[in-house]
Amino acid sequence: MSEFTVVNPASEEIVAAVARTTAGETDAAIERAVIAQAAWRAVAPADRAGLLRAFAGAVDAHIEELAGLEVAGAGHPVGQARWEAGQVRDVLTYYSAAPERACGRQIPVAGGLDVTFAEPIGVVGLIVPWNFPMPILSWGMAPALAAGNTVIAKPAEMTPLTAIRIGELALEAGIPDGVFQVLPGKGSVVGQRLVDHPAVGKIVFTGSTEVGREIMAGCARRVKRVTLELGGKSANIVFADADLERAAATAPQAAFDNAGQDCCSRSRILVQRSVLEKFMELLEPAVKAVTVGDPASAATQMGPLISAAHRDRVASYVPDGAPVAFRGTAPDGPGHWYPPTVLAPVRMDDPAYTEEVFGPVVTVTPFEDEAAAVALANDTPYGLSGSIWTRDVGRAIRVARAVETGNLSVNSHSSVRYSTPFGGFKQSGLGRELGPDALDAFTEVKNVFIATEG
Ligand code: NAD
Repeated sequence: MSEFTVVNPASEEIVAAVARTTAGETDAAIERAVIAQAAWRAVAPADRAGLLRAFAGAVDAHIEELAGLEVAGAGHPVGQARWEAGQVRDVLTYYSAAPERACGRQIPVAGGLDVTFAEPIGVVGLIVPWNFPMPILSWGMAPALAAGNTVIAKPAEMTPLTAIRIGELALEAGIPDGVFQVLPGKGSVVGQRLVDHPAVGKIVFTGSTEVGREIMAGCARRVKRVTLELGGKSANIVFADADLERAAATAPQAAFDNAGQDCCSRSRILVQRSVLEKFMELLEPAVKAVTVGDPASAATQMGPLISAAHRDRVASYVPDGAPVAFRGTAPDGPGHWYPPTVLAPVRMDDPAYTEEVFGPVVTVTPFEDEAAAVALANDTPYGLSGSIWTRDVGRAIRVARAVETGNLSVNSHSSVRYSTPFGGFKQSGLGRELGPDALDAFTEVKNVFIATEG
């Protein structure tokens, strides 16, 4: 088949058909990107900054349209989808300041002047998953472009619509032809070609740990630069001295945001045993109150899962006889629905406890003391995010330092801000995105010595 069918996960109606890019077309796009990069890196810093701001403005003028595409094509609740489109604008705006601040260093040496330059890598291949098509696209695209690279983005098969539209908006905003290209297609064709092609200097991959390992191995063959953002199985640690009402009221959102299809999902709630019963009493009404339904409705908090196959996979973690403590609701009829589900008590070897479910399933596990909480939180190959609830500042800092994960929040669940670094420890990834240092991931340091003595 030469086309993908984009299906509305809430209604199962066909939204669009999108042509698959072939390997030959991918090669042609890479050639265009190489040519465009020579001109793009030579655009004066203030002009490159201005073009990125114009791009941000074009996105801002189309927030509703982009949000609508994500509601229809990915089933995201409309409020969330508007925030995601806004994030593309904000990430572009943040990195539009970078071209004029790409300062090198002057290092004291004998016999001359020593200076460093942050040179663009060249062509960057950006491979994006289906769970947050817009934000994750922007996290790679904006700093890569700001640093003077050209970018080829491959959206996920099921969710190409917003990336395609953002590619059009880039051109409308004046970003030159070939600087930012979007190639919808298969991972095994377009994604693989980006990894294998010698003219692509860097890969930014977000997706599953399994595919990430293969991408890293592929990049190793050419010593190609690579950033990986992979899976997670994060802990939400609730100590007895915490504000239990707030911890319980916010735990569903931390686990079920984007229907749990979130690499940062706090899908393991760890609760100090002395307050377990009270916490469960508070959690139950919060879970039952999650509004699951039509993503187009502003009141909806949780939409459907992305596909029937994914819903079946999520459901397989809750077989007959699973220890369901309580669950929320989900609509009947068409759509890939799954209710918010709390499992407790779970065995330590239950796949729902050990594996990334990537759906609205959360486990609750008791712990005795601080050391046990840290040990449980770290007993996973992943290390992406997590939360700590306590009123003891010293404990908050001790536990935050001890948990092996890239993004932690204390007495809250926020984790992704465009101005702060994001990425994983252990098998959750390699490298960091966002924040002031992300430009380092899209540049090479060049050292130049200029003799002053003959
Ligand atoms: P996936 O690994 O199946 O696919 C991700 C992307 O890789 C898609 O565009 C796919 O087409 C492409 N791809 C697949 N095979 C490829 C190959 N051989 N060569 C090149 N590209 C290939 O992941 P998914 O199911 O789309 O996304 C869900 C996963 O992403 C979850 O594990 C989730 O935790 C992870 N994720 C991580 C982060 C993070 O920042 N750490 C963010 C979001 C999602």
